[in-house]
Amino acid sequence: MKLEAFRNMRILDFKSPQDKSKMEEALSKSRSQFGKTYKAFIGGKWIDTGDKITSVNPANPSEIVGYVANCTEKEIDMAFDAAENAFKEWRFSKASERAAYLVKIAKIMDESRYELDSWMVYEVGKNWIEADGDVAEAIDTLNYYAHEALRYSKGYKPYQVYGEKNEVKYVPIGSGVVIPPWNFPVAILTGMTAAAIVAGNTVLLKPASIASVIGAKVAEIFSEAGLPKGVFNFVPGSGSKIGDYLVKSPRTRFIAFTGSKDVGLRINELAAKHQEGQKWIKRVILEMGGKDAIVVDETADLDAAAEGIVVSAFGNQGQKCSACSRVIAVDAIYDKLIEKITERAKKIKVGDTSDFENWMGPVSSDEAFKKITGYIEIGKKEGKLVLGGNRIGNVGFFIEPTIFAEVGPNSRIAQEEIFGPVLSVIRAKDFDDAVKIFNSTEYGLTGGVYTKDKNRIKRAKAEFNVGNLYINRKITGALIGVQPFGGFNMSGTDSKSGGRDYLLLFLQAKSISEKI
Ligand code: NDP
Repeated sequence: MKLEAFRNMRILDFKSPQDKSKMEEALSKSRSQFGKTYKAFIGGKWIDTGDKITSVNPANPSEIVGYVANCTEKEIDMAFDAAENAFKEWRFSKASERAAYLVKIAKIMDESRYELDSWMVYEVGKNWIEADGDVAEAIDTLNYYAHEALRYSKGYKPYQVYGEKNEVKYVPIGSGVVIPPWNFPVAILTGMTAAAIVAGNTVLLKPASIASVIGAKVAEIFSEAGLPKGVFNFVPGSGSKIGDYLVKSPRTRFIAFTGSKDVGLRINELAAKHQEGQKWIKRVILEMGGKDAIVVDETADLDAAAEGIVVSAFGNQGQKCSACSRVIAVDAIYDKLIEKITERAKKIKVGDTSDFENWMGPVSSDEAFKKITGYIEIGKKEGKLVLGGNRIGNVGFFIEPTIFAEVGPNSRIAQEEIFGPVLSVIRAKDFDDAVKIFNSTEYGLTGGVYTKDKNRIKRAKAEFNVGNLYINRKITGALIGVQPFGGFNMSGTDSKSGGRDYLLLFLQAKSISEKI
């Protein structure tokens, strides 16, 4: 099978009248479908579960975006039956056949691009560009992992010894669980699911509850592609209710999780415990939070640094694992940099992102709103509030871009993941001090440096302890196939999604030796 050469999708240009009007059309069509009910998808059938998750618009929580079937242990058992049954044949299917399904899903997703974009505007408050970046990334993962499946299917030829033929093949591992976060509700959900499936495994996908309508839209696309029954199962439900059951089940062969540190650690602990009847050690793939920093020194282009910082800190309301939540500026340029960052952040338009002009939307939920505003109160005691700090309006979950200066490197707002539009600016004596502060959190996901000093760039490459390092550019927006993504330390198991190592996590190597 010959696949088209891999190329990253381009983001739509919403300044062009054509793309803008298509998006407006999609927004009004999706709005007309508000309040619809979506089912679970198990063993190739859409299933009603009786109970429902209610998903609301964070820009106006009185608007119900949709209802989604809430699965219980009964439906999870049915999904395991279907997945195990499907695995018996799917595991022996050709990699080229599996890759072809991914390419087909990518094509349908591309055709549904405006529609998916519009649901992300309504269900999680993304602006149009962020939403389209999410779908573009999902399409990229599908195409990229299709290529990767073909590459891994060749195995490799180890050293040979006389009288034998020795080979190594990669084989799938079994039926597993995929648990994505809400913040990349198309890209991460699709990426983890597609990687597992194209490697020859079968999947139970549990979407994040506050993004479960989008999850259902993606599930519809997977079902439309016509995968054999039971290869892909969609089992929405509350993580706190069915999460443990999915993770603990002796039938679970692997868990691919992306989300918060606390939930990730809980999954790690529960999955490690052997359950009666369990025949394997569960494979656990965890991608968790961050406390990502940008260092700026006295040689840096301060305008470029301020621009990169503001985009990284406030894009998607700061709700990216890669978001810049700490700036570490050396003393010599500290005040000047704060001025430049504040000037830019002041110009950000915050509001309902169904209007293209609003760059920042609401934060994702009432729970997120309370957590973030709680941290803002802590910040007022720990630092000096130089911008924002307030709610906007009293309907949706809108929070102003917020900046704290003179934040101590060990204070809570400099150490704990806030996951919102709150930036802490820390003063470092010099570059050496900045390196120490950079590495002083338990996380290690993304980070960056703005400097013109070649020696310091070299030091950043060697000493900044993060999975994704960016030099003289923003620290968000990793591209599939270009910047494999995953973090160190408490940021996860460094799975490097979108890279050449990723599919291996869903495979096991079989060494075969034949006497000749
Ligand atoms: P959560 O950890 O709250 O939720 C993630 C997923 O876990 C959801 O599907 C959730 O379901 C589920 N879940 C909740 N409790 C359990 C449980 N006990 N057992 C099993 N599953 C459970 O994270 P968010 O969705 O709020 O996402 C934000 C977090 O994700 C941030 O920390 C961010 O940094 C991180 N993230 C990391 C990335 C990375 O690549 N490192 C990328 C993107 C985000 P439910 O919604 O029903 O509660």
